[in-house]
Amino acid sequence: MNKKDIIKKFSAEPDRYFKVKLFEEQGFERKSCSKCGRFFWTLNSSHSLCPIDAEDAYSFIGNPPTQKRFDYSQAWKEVESFFVKNGHTSVNRYPVVCRWRDDLYFTIASIVDFQRVMGSKVVFEFPANPLVVPQTCLRFKDLENVGVTGKHFSSFCMIGQHSIPNSHGYWKDECIDLDFRLLTEQFGINKNEVVFVEDVWEGGGSFGSSLEFFVKGVELGNAVFTEFQGELGKHSELDQKVIDMGAGLERFAWITMGTPTAYDCCFGPITSQLIQKVGIDTDSNLLTRYFTAIAKNSESYDDIFVARKHVINDVGLTDEQVNRIISPLEGIYLIADHIRTLIFAISDGALPSNVGGGYNLRMMLRRIIGTMDRLSLKFDMNEMIDAQIDYLKNTYPELEETRQDVKTIVSIESGRYEGSKSRMQKMVSKLKQKPSVDDLIRLYESDGITPDYLKEMKVISEIPSAFYSKLSELHQSAKKKEQYALPLQGLPDTDLLYYGDDPKEFDAKVLKSFDKYVVLDKTSFYARGGGQEPDHGKIAGFVVVDVNKHGDIVVHELQGGMPKEGENVQCVLDSKRRDGITKHHTSTHILNSSSRNVLGSWVWQHSAFKEVDHARLDITHHSALTDEEVAKIEELANSKVKENIPVIIESFDRGAAEQKYGFRIYQGGMVPVKSVRIVSIEDFDIEACGGTHVKTTKEIDLIKITRTKRIQDGVVRLEFVAGQTAQDYVKKHAAELEEQSAEQAAKEERDKIRERMKEQARKNIPVLLKEISQISIGTTKLRNIEVITTKSRRFCWTKNDRYDEYFHINFGEKLVKANPRAVYCGLFDEGGTVRAIVYSGEEASKDNKAGDIAKAISEILGGAGGGDARFAQGGGKDKSKKDEAINKAKSMVLE
Ligand SMILES: [Zn+2]
Ligand SMILES: [Zn+2]
Repeated sequence: MNKKDIIKKFSAEPDRYFKVKLFEEQGFERKSCSKCGRFFWTLNSSHSLCPIDAEDAYSFIGNPPTQKRFDYSQAWKEVESFFVKNGHTSVNRYPVVCRWRDDLYFTIASIVDFQRVMGSKVVFEFPANPLVVPQTCLRFKDLENVGVTGKHFSSFCMIGQHSIPNSHGYWKDECIDLDFRLLTEQFGINKNEVVFVEDVWEGGGSFGSSLEFFVKGVELGNAVFTEFQGELGKHSELDQKVIDMGAGLERFAWITMGTPTAYDCCFGPITSQLIQKVGIDTDSNLLTRYFTAIAKNSESYDDIFVARKHVINDVGLTDEQVNRIISPLEGIYLIADHIRTLIFAISDGALPSNVGGGYNLRMMLRRIIGTMDRLSLKFDMNEMIDAQIDYLKNTYPELEETRQDVKTIVSIESGRYEGSKSRMQKMVSKLKQKPSVDDLIRLYESDGITPDYLKEMKVISEIPSAFYSKLSELHQSAKKKEQYALPLQGLPDTDLLYYGDDPKEFDAKVLKSFDKYVVLDKTSFYARGGGQEPDHGKIAGFVVVDVNKHGDIVVHELQGGMPKEGENVQCVLDSKRRDGITKHHTSTHILNSSSRNVLGSWVWQHSAFKEVDHARLDITHHSALTDEEVAKIEELANSKVKENIPVIIESFDRGAAEQKYGFRIYQGGMVPVKSVRIVSIEDFDIEACGGTHVKTTKEIDLIKITRTKRIQDGVVRLEFVAGQTAQDYVKKHAAELEEQSAEQAAKEERDKIRERMKEQARKNIPVLLKEISQISIGTTKLRNIEVITTKSRRFCWTKNDRYDEYFHINFGEKLVKANPRAVYCGLFDEGGTVRAIVYSGEEASKDNKAGDIAKAISEILGGAGGGDARFAQGGGKDKSKKDEAINKAKSMVLE
């Protein structure tokens, strides 16, 4: 649908779509901008330009239009008290990690809080009507603007004013009346300054008119009236019309403070502290001129750096002024903004990584470090986190709980970045030409090299605007599951017996039977889902090998034959299999909470798999687990098993469950139904889950973690067994351990004996030498040493393993010294090789050089050897050739 067509149609009928009671009562005039043609409503009849094109845009900088001054947290207090006194419920912010929608990583607008998926449709679920919420929203699309334009943030507070028109809620007239009074009565803005601009909104198949409200050129809020669905012209009114008014809290603070940038009044004392630390001379006249101009012109150019250049020129800043004042200020603003975003994201359970939404957070932190390095700023990360939380907790007290966790994650992640810098440096030095946007994306995706780092290294001068939006798009949409289509039209939803009495034997009627698939009117066979594997068993005597859900219809896959349609069949579950799977499923819940308790608040279930005899749980965690951590998790889990806690399953309205238990319940992802099944193990673990569970934890008997592994950046896998499988595992493991230690003991004993023999052999050298000296011609064997004596030679050798290197060297040397005609050859094993030591006596060495002998036998052993005439060494790897080697030496000496 084309937005232009909608606005054309709506603006042609302003009375119907835009004119609200307030305009009539107050006498607002409708005008068309003489520059851009936009229609706007104003009390100031001299206006001919819309607020975007108006001359006085951003003139509040240095000259705020209010008597009262409110910073970020005071501004929220004002907004909240206004709406509460006008009948609204103030709702706490929702997490910035959007766990209730599977198509978004982060909460990008306040209305997202109340959007839930129902089958394939998005519906609204409001915890109160009307309501107001200070929703922190994360947006990473235009990061290059953050810190530069004075008004762009990577996270900001969207004041959400939401209403469904019914007996409690209101529609357009009251909405605009409230917004007007908020600005004029609560904030004290002169009513002549408030301008409403006509616009439309469309998305997700619905659309409606909207009124944007501006003061001094700044859009403070946008009231969207979501009213229609379908194609324009063929559209119809929605059953559930919604008011979606979103306003930027940061801008409310800014307009009352009139500071050069919104950053100066939205981070509490943090920006001024950092500015002081660096010692930037903040000439307010210069800053007012510069930041008014950049705020006004930031959207006039496609590239923010082109806009910046023009503004610097127009305002007449010197390079020196830019380097000394503007650049460091931009760096400080960026750092303050990015830290705040990290605090919210990490507090709500997101981890920096190279996958999914985590990449944005890694990018944030690397930009902070890169900016500090580039500008030589030395800020302490922990101090900045403390200062931010100290300030933010006025509005968001829950951040106090995760203060330490945020520091832990930031410190680990900073360490990783520092550790990878030298590798990055090498890669950057190999870059031959200026990288394109695609090159930049590849460098970041595959090597973690951020464009900020390249800027710091002076490879690029500026980051192309397209980079962040392109990268953001790549990571925006989550994967959609594919499901093959089966001919199931017209079939009713299957009655799921496993959520009721859960009989293990039951009779059912075959509603459809095709290929190898059977659909029954009811079933107790659990269909694969939530990581739980399906039940097996028999239907009409045929084996059930798989069970899957298609929408709300359960399809059984059979083997060996098929029942006929219309037949009544007997069904029997493999209850032993079900039992094993069930124990593993409840154990997954227990281990998940145990891991979070032991490791930190950032632990969430990433995914899980439960089979009859094993299971795995993937959790979000920054590093591989240590043995100590594994032991602690296992110990806590088993203590919960021993406590025999009842596992309670209750059905809740989805909204009520969220309000009661918070978003921790979505460990297995979002739930696309209105009524959620809450499985609770006291308050230790509470999850929305559609699986089967034990009645009390003691049934599990035992949980044993068999292996853990870091499977991807930010995700650790725990493989485990429960119940009988765990007992068997422990027994088998104990037996293995015993066997291993027996083997070890035997080996130690053997080693000891060998050592003793070697020692004995050394001691025996003098005796042995004496005995050998008394031998006359012939062949003798003495203590495993062969002695062959001829008229002219005596050849002694041994390969017995009681003799070591020490023995061969001492014995050989003394032997040939005592008998100049003797030759000695000793072989012994060392590691994987055979070594040879050869001595030749003074006379023998004339014909039989030790070196020649060593060389010859080493060749046979598959190695090399050498030495001089009297002493040589060698060896090789072929232990089977020891005898051949000795025979060679023997023939060399004796023949
Ligand atoms: Zn205009
Ligand atoms: Zn579960």
